[in-house]
Amino acid sequence: MENLIKGVKKFNKEYNRHRDLFDNLGDAQAPHSLFIGCCDSRIVPSLLTSSNPGELFVIRNVANMVPYFQVKNEFLSTTSAIEYAVCNLHVENIIVCGHSNCGGCNAMYLNDEELNKTPHLKKWLELGNPVKEKVEAFLGNNLADKALITEQMNIVEQMKHLLTYPYILEKYNNNRINILGWYYDIKTGLVSSYNSKTNSFIPI
Ligand SMILES: [Zn+2]
Repeated sequence: MENLIKGVKKFNKEYNRHRDLFDNLGDAQAPHSLFIGCCDSRIVPSLLTSSNPGELFVIRNVANMVPYFQVKNEFLSTTSAIEYAVCNLHVENIIVCGHSNCGGCNAMYLNDEELNKTPHLKKWLELGNPVKEKVEAFLGNNLADKALITEQMNIVEQMKHLLTYPYILEKYNNNRINILGWYYDIKTGLVSSYNSKTNSFIPI
């Protein structure tokens, strides 16, 4: 708690040094990119991309997932934020960013008994079911790279989910929006980008 208060006081001092930037941002935002990342405390999108406030519209959820497009009278947080970013803010890029040592990706493999303790998480992780099946088919009994392969395949899977949104598909087909998949390795700081031609992640 003490750390948080100290942090706010430090921020207020810093804030005054960046007056011009915040004055400009005070009335409107025009972010160029939608960043969909994991809730993990180690992922700091603006740090990763050296971005200033106002540049990234950020959605964070467990394991950087994208729900399939659906019209439902429910509280769809990720879907409504995607809608706002694409339809109202007209972002030029969407980045799905996964990372190493992802607890959400790892949780996809927990058994039912474990997952039943967290029923909403259990439901949410169903968005990774196609990934699980692909990883198991791809790796067989060789489980050495299971975490890495799951985290990277999950990024590619969630990029596909983005194209179930009609307004994203339309922009994507007309080259009006870029969809990027990034993998961030926490231990090395290396960020790799998905290349669909080689079906692999290449360091940026
Ligand atoms: Zn994660």
